[in-house]
Amino acid sequence: MKNLEELVRPNILKLAPYSSARNEYSGKEAHVFLDANENPYNQPLNRYPDPLQRELKTAISKVKGVPEEYMFLGNGSDEAIDLVYRCFTQPGIDNVVAIEPTYGMYKVCADINDVEYRPVLLDEDFQITAEKLLAACDEHTKAIWICSPNNPTGNNIMHEEILKVIETFEGLVVVDEAYSDFSQEKPLRLKVGRYPNLIVLNTLSKAWGCAAIRLGIAFANPRLIEIFNKVKYPYNVNLLTQQKAIEMLDPYTVEKWLTLILQERGRLISAIRELPICEKVYPTDANFFLVKVTDAQKIYDYLVEKGIIVRNRSKVSLCQNCLRITIGSKSENAELLSALRQY
Ligand SMILES: *Cc1c(COP(=O)(O)O)cnc(C)c1O
Repeated sequence: MKNLEELVRPNILKLAPYSSARNEYSGKEAHVFLDANENPYNQPLNRYPDPLQRELKTAISKVKGVPEEYMFLGNGSDEAIDLVYRCFTQPGIDNVVAIEPTYGMYKVCADINDVEYRPVLLDEDFQITAEKLLAACDEHTKAIWICSPNNPTGNNIMHEEILKVIETFEGLVVVDEAYSDFSQEKPLRLKVGRYPNLIVLNTLSKAWGCAAIRLGIAFANPRLIEIFNKVKYPYNVNLLTQQKAIEMLDPYTVEKWLTLILQERGRLISAIRELPICEKVYPTDANFFLVKVTDAQKIYDYLVEKGIIVRNRSKVSLCQNCLRITIGSKSENAELLSALRQY
């Protein structure tokens, strides 16, 4: 890996971050807070939240098995995705490489930040070799994006190849594990201690059932986390989100949901395979699956008429005539199936 100093944007390396009232007194016990121009009434909403979300990080650390200092929390994973660009890529000069097809936000954020985005097509099994990804890089490539399990394809990218990329590439490798809870594969977040150029993204939006509260996690080396913390908005995760997240970090509840969802996934996929509209269901390690159908647009429109929304991915590379279907509750899945049987 290159020195972090070489990878960080020069203006960010030099940046003196905003120092908030709550940052400065750190450590000492205090009970009179006259430092932040807050209203003394309306507890607890009158107070600015902890800018570094310490209590929440302790709770997440226990569940995820990664120490607090290896953790950045943001307003959804999307904040961490954007920060990778704002901290490490020079607009108009640097580029990033990503598997294709994949989650759309990596490209949107590249475009917003005026950074060249280099998609590298997966093979027909939706896999990729380290060699192919590395061949797309040059001296201005700052990051490689790998989503595993991948969205919209659903499959894990082979860890052997991901590890080869991490070990060979001189820049950052971002592995988005938004769906890793649904997979049997050992998560790569447990390896951030070993690889200083690895960033792993997690979210509370999927298995943890908390898309509404907006909480994303980036796991990475503490020196990298410090850079994210320097650039983020001072109070990027609000108090209600911090409180609710602590309340929701109950692995037993999530395990129960996962069992139900995975059981439904098996049932739904078997039933879809029997339908005349189904040409192929692709293997999945996530809480959704990709299915190639006879006419994606017509089936999509038909389902919309019935008030059932799936994702039409037919315009995405390698996904011609494909719908992406999320596993719903038992009754939602039954409604989908019954509609498709009547098609
Ligand atoms: C849904 C999803 C996310 C979650 O983003 P949030 O901003 O945390 O809700 C991240 N990455 C991928 C690949 C996703 O599909």
